[in-house]
Amino acid sequence: MTDTAIREFIRAEYGIEATLTRLAGENENYLVRANDGTDYVLKLADDGTTTAMIEMESLAVNRLMEEGLSIGLPRVIPTLKGKNEARANLGKDLIRGRLISFVAGKAWCETLPASTDRLEHLGGIIGKLARILSPLSHPAGEITHHWDLSQADQHRPLIPLVREPERIKILEKIFLWFEAIFIPVRETLPRGPIHGDINDDNVLVQADRVSGLLDFGDCIVNPVICDLAIALAYHTLDEADPLGAAAVITGAYDRERTLSPDEIRVLFPLLCARLAVSVIISAQRRQINPERSAWFVSEERAWKKLEHFSGISPDRAAAGLASQTSVAAQLNLESHQGQAPEHLARERKDFIAPSLSLSYKTPLKFVRGLGQYLFDHQGQPFLDLYNNVCHVGHCHPHVVSAGQAQMAVLNTNTRYLYDGLTEYARRLTATLPRELSTCFFVNSGSEANELALRMAKTVTGREDVLVVDNAYHGHTQTMVQISPYKFKGKGGKGKPEPWVHVVPVADGYRGQYKGHGPETGRAYGDEVKGILDKMDRPPAAFITESLLSCGGQVIPPQDYFKTAFSHVRNAGGLCICDEVQTGFGRSGTHFWAFETQGVVPDIVVMGKPMGNGHPMAAVVTTKEIAQAFANGMEFFATFGGNPVSCAIGMAVLDVIEKETLQEHARIVGGRLLKGLTDLMARHEIIGDVRGTGLFIGVELVKDRQTLAPATQEANRLVNALKESQILLGTDGPFDNVIKFKPPMVMSEADADMTVRVMDRILEQGL
Ligand code: PMP
Repeated sequence: MTDTAIREFIRAEYGIEATLTRLAGENENYLVRANDGTDYVLKLADDGTTTAMIEMESLAVNRLMEEGLSIGLPRVIPTLKGKNEARANLGKDLIRGRLISFVAGKAWCETLPASTDRLEHLGGIIGKLARILSPLSHPAGEITHHWDLSQADQHRPLIPLVREPERIKILEKIFLWFEAIFIPVRETLPRGPIHGDINDDNVLVQADRVSGLLDFGDCIVNPVICDLAIALAYHTLDEADPLGAAAVITGAYDRERTLSPDEIRVLFPLLCARLAVSVIISAQRRQINPERSAWFVSEERAWKKLEHFSGISPDRAAAGLASQTSVAAQLNLESHQGQAPEHLARERKDFIAPSLSLSYKTPLKFVRGLGQYLFDHQGQPFLDLYNNVCHVGHCHPHVVSAGQAQMAVLNTNTRYLYDGLTEYARRLTATLPRELSTCFFVNSGSEANELALRMAKTVTGREDVLVVDNAYHGHTQTMVQISPYKFKGKGGKGKPEPWVHVVPVADGYRGQYKGHGPETGRAYGDEVKGILDKMDRPPAAFITESLLSCGGQVIPPQDYFKTAFSHVRNAGGLCICDEVQTGFGRSGTHFWAFETQGVVPDIVVMGKPMGNGHPMAAVVTTKEIAQAFANGMEFFATFGGNPVSCAIGMAVLDVIEKETLQEHARIVGGRLLKGLTDLMARHEIIGDVRGTGLFIGVELVKDRQTLAPATQEANRLVNALKESQILLGTDGPFDNVIKFKPPMVMSEADADMTVRVMDRILEQGL
């Protein structure tokens, strides 16, 4: 548009005769000097500027002026018709613009270094601004835009636009902080209108004091803390000690508007996220027009700070930022840390048996858990994709409070009557096929499998048991005897006991029936018959996991269980499904994984996820079997089914239902499975990706023809993932299968991040 046209626009809309000077910067802004000597700024609106945004902007500025925020602010000048925005048709085009009062001063970024006084002044102004604007609610502010810091995660999928692997790693880490530290409290933080872009261009300075604040164009309703985070991100860009400067600003802010511990904790992840969004938007813009230098002014400065900040732990940053506030004492981060990991690792050697192992070359120490995240002693979050015990999320508040409440009222045992036992049994059996209606409660998966086996032996009066190769059923004497994973593994005797008969794993990827298509399941099922025929005595039971976990995340092919069960039952044996790893909706399509094959076992065993970390397990069977087992010998497990356990078990079922976690597992697991499967096209080393819901295995091979296991590579991948703060583990007979069995609350964003990170690690080479 020509200057003449703009001048005409100003004359017609505002009745002002003026001269024009285009201002530097991203937007189309003009300095307007009226004939009477008054200066204004004309901001021509782009397509992204909505009426609501303009309304919010003038509302906020007017309120700040009324309430005496004593700095220069860009007051919106009404048009001759009394509107906040001027509109005129120029030819075919609609021109939209608004005139605002000119604010004197020099941009903060041009007047460096900033004195401590000035940093304090800035903090105080932002605190006061927050205090004034917070009560101002207006529907116009309930919008979002691509700089909305509370929604910074919308940019996360664009991380790969940045090409350098080291920089990608930094961004992944910062978004993990955002996801694990900010998102869980996002909805609980105080909200209100914020300026939205308190950057070092928008803050004006005169005589080493803040003299003005420009550009309320990004004003939206947000967690109030976002304004401080944005200001810290930009106003520490050129500081030699950025956290020190940020602490000064934060301290002064707190004196105007008291910060809460949660606000302090999210501040650092938020300020980093702002810088991360800035560099991602730059990367995006570079694709559109790499020549437009105004778009890239702060890019390298932002990267320098991101590189610096990503090396600081969230806890240390929070402690630093809180150091000059009233919240410092409440944060109490140091006491969370306890002993150093190296010290604990040494101490374990003194007191803990050497047969226990520790994961990773450099073991991790965790101090707290939340949802799908575990936090180490420095507040560093790790995405937990491995620990299925905390099924509904680490420390789920509903489960925690149910346990706490019951513990404060009554804990006794099953020799007395209390409501919880039958109430829980009723709810638990309601999730199972009708026949499976009688419960025994114990404390661990091993104990439950022991009981199931004892029951089968007692009821049938037989000894022999069929087990699946590579299976694991527990750590007790008998369980080790029926677990090929143990007796064939390190330190094992190598051979099964004479009463234990091993059937092959129904593995469609390896094994004798690989490539048999729809016949695979039946063929493996018939192998069971072959073994039964060779046995001297009929079996008491066939025990199998519904999906094989320690055996390498194997999903048995359809018809396997139908075929195998019918052979076992024809021989008079009972069928036991071990659902310790797979139950409670993990498979996504069904609550119990055996249901995926349309069978009903005679006995089902459950454990791990049942109490979300509280030790609980159960055996559920038919009335007839339970009756036949009742031969006079009492069954009593001191802790099994106690009132606290029942309350916790019930709370776990509540959460699964309320948060529709089975369906969630189907959706998120499906997305993760697809993402991982897509990686196969780019990485030869991935031989197979298999799974259902949030039970997934990725098998690494050296050669897709010979299937030679890539065991060391799998180990290196898991260690590299740990460096990217993702917890996974390997398993299977060759230890080459990456095992995914996360808390069921993991998100689609977590799934996408995991796929991106694995892709990057594999790209860089193991
Ligand atoms: N069954 C299966 C399938 C398991 O994976 C496990 C534990 N990994 C157990 C039983 C034993 O459970 P626990 O450790 O609670 O005794």
